[in-house]
Amino acid sequence: MSTLEIRDLQVSVKLPEGDLKPILAGVDLTVKSGETHAIMGPNGSGKSTLAYSIAGHPKYEITGGTVTLDGDNVLDMTVDERARAGLFLAMQYPVEVPGVSVANFLRTAKTAVDGQAPKLRTWAGELRGAMEKLQMDPAFAQRNVNEGFSGGEKKRHEIMQLELLKPKMAILDETDSGLDIDALRIVSEGVNRVRETGETGLLLITHYTRILRYIQPDFVHVFVAGKIVQEGGPELAEQLEAEGYERYVGTRV
Ligand code: ADP
Ligand code: MG
Ligand code: MG
Repeated sequence: MSTLEIRDLQVSVKLPEGDLKPILAGVDLTVKSGETHAIMGPNGSGKSTLAYSIAGHPKYEITGGTVTLDGDNVLDMTVDERARAGLFLAMQYPVEVPGVSVANFLRTAKTAVDGQAPKLRTWAGELRGAMEKLQMDPAFAQRNVNEGFSGGEKKRHEIMQLELLKPKMAILDETDSGLDIDALRIVSEGVNRVRETGETGLLLITHYTRILRYIQPDFVHVFVAGKIVQEGGPELAEQLEAEGYERYVGTRV
């Protein structure tokens, strides 16, 4: 059983001129393994900033508050240490890794997270199994990471990582963006498989309610102007679907 605790997190983005622009204005959130949380909010409200801050992206400066995973200070860890501690972040805009195949990338990531290389024979089977479940062509494993990937392939690759790396906490930022309805279903089924293990805490960040028809969150948090302004159960997502964010806009930090 793992717990990610975010307390009064305040974050600024570092602007090119060296100035700091405050984005997160005190975020409180607790996610336990086996729980699925949805963070929903309008564009520009700071959802990705929250994800990148937890992941340790250098563009963001933590100006206050704490993030711990099972009591350990995440904010003190390097990006690699965060991954080894069991944090997983699916990037909203995944980067290309030239010259590195999907198979090698995943094996390297697995080795880094587990602290030892996976056994070759079982690993090949696990990789094949993960790809079959996501209805991916086996040839995909030999392609270079993110090179020429379609939107759907990028997302499937993310979910493949999630299934193979078995993190304690996974933060999925806009996993639903750019997916057609079939890809959305396949990706959602993958997330639900991870969820059903009960071993991973999931934080789904999304602008739209669409993905929440396939993945039912246990908790919904409405995020506006750098903080959580309302919390509830799955019914809150339905309410947002009907009413949008309009009644929250005007909220000021
Ligand atoms: P969301 O994911 O909710 O759409 P973001 O976290 O991406 O929101 O952005 C939050 C705010 O921070 C936005 O107003 C955005 O313009 C601003 N921001 C993010 N990165 C930068 C940057 N590098 N320079 C200036 N502003 C930024
Ligand atoms: Mg936001
Ligand atoms: Mg975003």
